[in-house]
Amino acid sequence: VTKIGVLTSGGDAPGMNAAIRAVVRTGIYNGMEVFGIMRGYSGMIDNDIVPMHSRSVANIIQRGGTILKTARCKEFFEYEGRKKAYGNLKKLGINGLVIIGGDGSFRGAHKLSEEFDIPCIGLPGTIDKDIAGTDFTIGFDTAVNTAVEAIDKIRDTADAHDRLFIIEVMGRDAGYIALHSGIATGAENILIPERKTDIEELVNGLLEKERRRKLVNIIVVAEGDRGAEDVADIIKERIPSADTRVCVLGHIQRGGAPTCMDRLIASRMGYSAVESLIEGRHNVMIGIVNNKMHYTPLEKAVKAKQKISDDWLKIVKILAS
Ligand code: ATP
Repeated sequence: VTKIGVLTSGGDAPGMNAAIRAVVRTGIYNGMEVFGIMRGYSGMIDNDIVPMHSRSVANIIQRGGTILKTARCKEFFEYEGRKKAYGNLKKLGINGLVIIGGDGSFRGAHKLSEEFDIPCIGLPGTIDKDIAGTDFTIGFDTAVNTAVEAIDKIRDTADAHDRLFIIEVMGRDAGYIALHSGIATGAENILIPERKTDIEELVNGLLEKERRRKLVNIIVVAEGDRGAEDVADIIKERIPSADTRVCVLGHIQRGGAPTCMDRLIASRMGYSAVESLIEGRHNVMIGIVNNKMHYTPLEKAVKAKQKISDDWLKIVKILAS
């Protein structure tokens, strides 16, 4: 592999820039030519591909978003789209790819590698941490720290006014952001899609706290569970005496400077992606498991089946009493 392309695809995540930087500089260090493919698979199809130099990635390790931009691309689902994309790569002599994105982006990469025999390496870039074969995904730690900072601030006002706050965090079908940020902020309840919420138990718990004059409550709800508004409606109806407010954190969780942890894993994964191409470890997703690099065949790089341990939820119950 002598010429490689790097792209970001799907939703953006803080730390993607650190990964791009690592791929570009490790590639150049090993005598490769490196190209940046703009807007995910769209740039591959539209031939929006630019040469990258060591200086192209200067001063980006600390920036959120992605300098290569990202997109979702319908045409890439079709064979014709992928054929056109491969044609553009071939013209430039690109014979290896690094794709930073989620499981959808890996499915696309797997198809391309099967149909056109181009080695592809996937790096898990998503704030949701919903990918199997890695303990961390690029962006999760930043998103969860942003959520913690916001929830801490909300707790100040909740405390001043004796309010009950229902805070919705991101994570799509995964409850990791809710679970981690909820435990770290001492949330009284955490509602996640991996566990069916017993509304009766929730309401009774709140009523019991009200009896004990514990009026400040923070309930963290994952977006993939029932929405925060929905939970608020039930609580307002069942406990009209509670001063109930809703806050949906939304897109602030996607942006901002990546944490040290995200910069570190993105750098390690980016480096390892190029090493894998050199060593012939093709068509894998690079993960980190037990602090060691871990390789999952692209066709098996799928959304994680959630395994949230009962212990975690027990901790929430005990510590928030
Ligand atoms: P996120 O988890 O942030 O949404 P993702 O990588 O899962 O990231 P998707 O929108 O699922 O995001 O996929 C990104 C792009 O990958 C799609 O727009 C499409 O171009 C390509 N892609 C996804 N699935 C396939 C597939 N089955 N075949 C070909 N290309 C695909």
